[in-house]
Amino acid sequence: EIDVPESHPRYQSLLTRHRIEHGVEAGITSKQGLIAQGRGEAFDYLLGEETIPSADAAERAAAAQLLLADHPVLSVNGNVAALVPDELVELADAVDAALEVNLFNRTEARMEAIADHLRAHGAEDVKGLTADARIPGLEHERGKVDTDGIYEADVVLVPLEDGDRAEALGEMDKAEIVIDLNPASRSPRVASIPIVDNVIRAVPNITAHARELADADSRTLERIVDEFDADEALEAAEERIRSGEF
Ligand code: ATP
Ligand code: MG
Repeated sequence: EIDVPESHPRYQSLLTRHRIEHGVEAGITSKQGLIAQGRGEAFDYLLGEETIPSADAAERAAAAQLLLADHPVLSVNGNVAALVPDELVELADAVDAALEVNLFNRTEARMEAIADHLRAHGAEDVKGLTADARIPGLEHERGKVDTDGIYEADVVLVPLEDGDRAEALGEMDKAEIVIDLNPASRSPRVASIPIVDNVIRAVPNITAHARELADADSRTLERIVDEFDADEALEAAEERIRSGEF
C-alpha cells in the first residue's frame, strides 16, 4: 500500500498518515480530519504507540457491552472510514451491529463517498443517509441521525466523536463507547466506556475480544461491563502520559 518497509520503526504512523491523506483526496475525510489526526498522533506518541493495559480492559468491556446490546450501532466518520474500513466491517459482523455514517461537518457528497467506501470494503447495509431523526440538544445539521440507527440504538460506539455530540448522545440513555487518544478530551470523559487508544489498534482488538467472548453467557458479559471503571481507565491513561515512558 505504501512504499515503507514494515520493519520501519514508524511504519504504523506512516501508514496512518498515508490513509488519512488518501481519505482527503477521495473526498472521505475532511481537512478538519487532518488536524484531528495530528492531535491524535501527539497523544499516541506520549502513550508509547501501544495499547496500554487499561485500554485493553476497556476494549474487552466494549466487546461485552456490544454483545449484550439489542441494537448496537457503530458510528463512522471520515477519519475512521479512511483508517479502518475493513476492521469496522469485521467488528459489525462480530457483534451484529449496524454501521451508520455520522459526520461533524455533514455534506451529502461526503456521506455518499463514505457509504460507498464502506460498501466497497464489504459493508452490506450502511445507515445515516435517511437522517429522519435528530439527537436532542444539537443544532439541526449536526444532530441528524437515522431512526432505526443511532436514534434507537441502546449501545453506540463513537470513535473520535466531538465533545458536544458525545455529551448529547450520552444524555439519550444509551451506553456510549468512545475511542479517543486524549484522555482529557470531553468525549471520553462523558463516555460510559472510554477507550484511550488509537482506532487502528482499538477496533481490531474489540473484535478479537468479541470473538473470544462469543459463547459467553450474559451474566459473564454483564460482569465484565460492571467491573470496568471508566474513571480508573482515564486516570491510568493520564498517568501513562505523565510517566514520560515513551
Ligand atoms: P472536544 O473537547 O470538543 O472533544 P477536541 O479538541 O477533542 O475537542 P475533537 O474534534 O474531538 O476536538 O478532536 C479529535 C480527537 O480525536 C482528539 O482528541 C484526538 O486525540 C482524537 N484522535 C485523532 N485521531 C485519532 C485516532 N487515530 N485514534 C484515536 N483517537 C484519535
Ligand atoms: Mg474530543
